[in-house]
Amino acid sequence: FPPKLTSKPSFKTHNSLNPFLLSNPVPRNNKSQSHLFSRTFQSLNSIKPYVQSEWEPILKGWLCSVVSVYSLSQIVPKFGKLSTVSTNFDAIWLRDEGLVVGVLVLARFVASYLQQSFLWDAALNSVYKIRVHVFERVLQRELGFFEGGGGVSAGDIAYRITAEASDVADTVYAILNAVVPSILQLSAMAMQMLVISPVLSLISALVIPCMALVIAYLGERLRKTSKKAHLSIATLSSYLNEVLPSILFVKANSAELCENARFRRFAHADLSECSKKRKLKALIPQIVQTIYFGGLFIFCFGSLRVSSGSFDGCSMVSFVTSLVLLIEPIQGVGKAYNELKQGEPAIDRLFDLTRFKSQVIEKPDAVDLDSVIGEVKFCDISFKYGDSMPLVLSGLDLHIKAGETIALVGPSGGGKTTLVKLLLRLYDPLSGCILIDNHNIQNIRLESLRRHVGLVSQDISLFSGTVAENIGYRDLMTEVDMGRVEIAAQTANADEFIRALPEGYETNIGPRGSILSGGQKQRLAIARAIYQNSSILILDEATSALDSRSELLVRQAVERLMEHHTVLVIAHRLETVLMAKRIFLLD
Ligand code: ADP
Ligand code: MG
Repeated sequence: FPPKLTSKPSFKTHNSLNPFLLSNPVPRNNKSQSHLFSRTFQSLNSIKPYVQSEWEPILKGWLCSVVSVYSLSQIVPKFGKLSTVSTNFDAIWLRDEGLVVGVLVLARFVASYLQQSFLWDAALNSVYKIRVHVFERVLQRELGFFEGGGGVSAGDIAYRITAEASDVADTVYAILNAVVPSILQLSAMAMQMLVISPVLSLISALVIPCMALVIAYLGERLRKTSKKAHLSIATLSSYLNEVLPSILFVKANSAELCENARFRRFAHADLSECSKKRKLKALIPQIVQTIYFGGLFIFCFGSLRVSSGSFDGCSMVSFVTSLVLLIEPIQGVGKAYNELKQGEPAIDRLFDLTRFKSQVIEKPDAVDLDSVIGEVKFCDISFKYGDSMPLVLSGLDLHIKAGETIALVGPSGGGKTTLVKLLLRLYDPLSGCILIDNHNIQNIRLESLRRHVGLVSQDISLFSGTVAENIGYRDLMTEVDMGRVEIAAQTANADEFIRALPEGYETNIGPRGSILSGGQKQRLAIARAIYQNSSILILDEATSALDSRSELLVRQAVERLMEHHTVLVIAHRLETVLMAKRIFLLD
């Protein structure tokens, strides 16, 4: 730090050089062809239930496509006749035919439009459901997934759920559009061509397998580049997600230049991957378009037959029109293939977030605790964060009586916060057990356990929203009780500064509570814990940012709470610690 800038940054080099790597490394591509299709099927299988649930708009869209293709197949022969009308001109016939063609064109226009809107509805609704499901699963993942080294960063997750999910919508639409509308139009036009001239149709059909092979090859290349492009932009997003919230630190260190350099490196990696992807994407439709040249060739061949008398002009025009209209659905299928190959990594990366096995498991017969007196026992607890990590806690015993206030002190990194995480079952201990009111916490429903343990943590989590919403966070889904919010704020000595805010309790505190000072944030967090009214309250270095006067007032508030709660105070300040009945040193 600052990073070494290579003259020609590439995705691979920054992956291995960058110590601040924020995303997963590029996984090795499996070259095996048999995996090629199974992977596509796996990706499609993941989204299948969501797309199937949208059967209604899909069916409507496909019905519209039948109308649209039917109109088209009626227009084509009429078009042939109209274009060769000059020899036996009949005004009334011409007017009637013109009218019919006009109606058919209008029908095709309306049906095509409706087809597209229904299919887009289906695609966007399925992606909405996928997003909701993925986010639900992400929230279910345990803390270790977010905290662990080499894990998926918040920025990466955000990118997958936002931008990559939008890519999935394009994929779903392209597939829905290809499956019925394109195939229908393709068959209808091919039938017309076959009826008019089987020989010419067969010649044009010869071109298609060659195209298909080339496209399949390019599609696989596209999937691989898309995957790299997704990873590189996810890295960029992770980087921004990390650096922007720390903007104060960056500016205070005059690190703009250094951050510019880091940004350039990530952005450049994305540039090269995206550029490869875009070029490939552009190539595929171009190849499909060369079928036009095939059409031109057939046209010349057909003209020869017309001039030799075996093929009339009317059939020729119908044939070529069909051929030209055949290009559109072929392009549709090609585009669907394109989108599928590009969307495959996005689908995989999205659903990867949902595939996990929890370490912290809620037993099926876990109980709800209605009320808790607040006795907490840690019995012979050992814990480490990972197999290769050192033991953080080893053979720890701690008995906190109901209604007792204890303080936990000790060197930084001693495992105080870890102990709290174990009590909340954010991790399970390696050995030993934790009891609340003599119930092993492994037998308590997680929601119930976490309702009875209130935490004011070291890292304060405030959200954009009003002060009242932040204090009444627990009741956001139902209704925040304003009376209790104010009492909680008064108890936490936050009422005074909240009332001084422009809109009092209705003031929006900005992202992560950015309009508040450190001490104000802490008092708000304490008010939130008081509002929650848990029997067991943990203050994990929660008063560290308070000035002596506020700290005194919060201490008085905690002393009031001590009458009815079990309180565990983790602190460094002597005054804070002294209000505890017993002080434990965790060394
Ligand atoms: P304290 O709160 O007493 O300062 P912590 O409980 O936060 O200490 O940390 C105890 C030890 O566990 C430290 O050595 C820290 O590096 C390690 N640790 C904390 N969180 C993690 C994590 N998510 N993954 C790996 N190690 C961790
Ligand atoms: Mg700590």
